[in-house]
Amino acid sequence: MQIPDHKTKIVCTIGPASSSEEVIRELVLAGMNVARINFSHGDFESHSEVIRRVRRIAADLDRPIAILADLPGPKIRIGKLEKEPIMLHKGNFVTLTVDEILGNEKRIPVNYKQLPESVTPGSLIYLSDGFIQLRCLEISGKDVICEVLVGGQLYSQKGLNLPGAKIFIDPVTGNDLKILEFALSEGIDTFSISFMESVEDIRKVRDFAAARGKPVYIVAKIERRQAVENIQEILKETDALMVARGDLGVEIPIQEVPSVQKELIYSAKLLGIPVITATHMLASMTDNIRPTRAEATDVANAILDGTDAVMLSEETAVGNYPVEAVEMMAKIAKTTENWRSRTKWGLDTIIKGIAEREMSVDEVITLQVHEALQKLPVAAVLTPTRSGATPRRISRFKPETWILALSRVPRTYSFLSLSYGVYPVLVEETIESWEKEATEKAKKLEFVKSGDIVIFTQGPSLGKPGGTNMLKILTLE
Ligand code: PGA
Ligand code: MN
Repeated sequence: MQIPDHKTKIVCTIGPASSSEEVIRELVLAGMNVARINFSHGDFESHSEVIRRVRRIAADLDRPIAILADLPGPKIRIGKLEKEPIMLHKGNFVTLTVDEILGNEKRIPVNYKQLPESVTPGSLIYLSDGFIQLRCLEISGKDVICEVLVGGQLYSQKGLNLPGAKIFIDPVTGNDLKILEFALSEGIDTFSISFMESVEDIRKVRDFAAARGKPVYIVAKIERRQAVENIQEILKETDALMVARGDLGVEIPIQEVPSVQKELIYSAKLLGIPVITATHMLASMTDNIRPTRAEATDVANAILDGTDAVMLSEETAVGNYPVEAVEMMAKIAKTTENWRSRTKWGLDTIIKGIAEREMSVDEVITLQVHEALQKLPVAAVLTPTRSGATPRRISRFKPETWILALSRVPRTYSFLSLSYGVYPVLVEETIESWEKEATEKAKKLEFVKSGDIVIFTQGPSLGKPGGTNMLKILTLE
């Protein structure tokens, strides 16, 4: 047997672009480990066909390939449109209705009957992965009248998100149970639960399967705020996690997604629970044969965060380059894993690495600043600098406390803009009393106030670079 050249697992969503015999075979050869059947689309008959095909090919090629059935949960979608796409323009009004109509620019049907109860005037409503943003103005019977805040093209069946709203549908729906029943009968034993919020949702799926004599593996898809908040409880009950960044990036502010990803992976890995990082990993490969640098970096970073698996969605389901996308992921995984094994990254290792090095006096001072910052509630570190070396060295420790770097050298001052946690301050050519001057500046900039603890570093002479040999901890008058 040929041992795979990478250890990160690849999950591929199977769809029209990848359900044929040839493509599935190529996906497996390119490195697919898990085939995800997305029950949001397609009918049981075609899913059954795909399941059989994947099994046959896996057996043929003698590869272990898992099948993951994705339970769509209460995914809210718009209905069919008369023609598509329609264009929603900023400033226009549009009505979302739970009436079963064909949609157009003025009225759009929504498959969620309690929509009028879930929103109030002022609620934000997102369409199409959050690309279109509406604000609810008024609710009138089955209609929700909205203003378009961010417009765009809209296609039939696109998703609708109501961040933070109360949703009056159980995350495990009646439809999910039908899918579960069908998939169990097909011998599937691994299920991902969309939009799940609590351990109750996991138990519901597990109990339903257990009642049919089937033990199942559960992948909790973390894509709602409530799930992020309940994560410690969820980790006690689930078999795996999916960082479902697609919906998560609409349900919580998108800028929180990277940190939540790291936090989820870290929490799961402490317990040895596998994690799939999902969605938009190589999104541009849906249309292009190569990913963007940012996407390649995203895959690598997820691996460095400690994810077990990376997932492809549209890329393999409907993209033009499904096989190339898997090949690209495999290449990034192989290379990143190699780097991981021969380098040391991460803050803890950096700090450990720094501490283990031989140090000059001024470096020892910066290490002591770091240690003092661990123990004392310091408001700011004030450091005079000619070359910028001292603030840069303190910055290596990524302190939570700002480093005010006071320099009279303009280029030092400007280059310090690049250093993490350093606030550069340009000071006059001659300083009478450095401490006094620094304190005044820091107070003026509102980094510190009377009564705060501050750390000063200082050298024997302000003009001499690299000579920092003092550390002073003071409570400001
Ligand atoms: P989906 O889940 O593709 O089923 O929506 C993944 C996600 O939301 O990221
Ligand atoms: Mn989702």
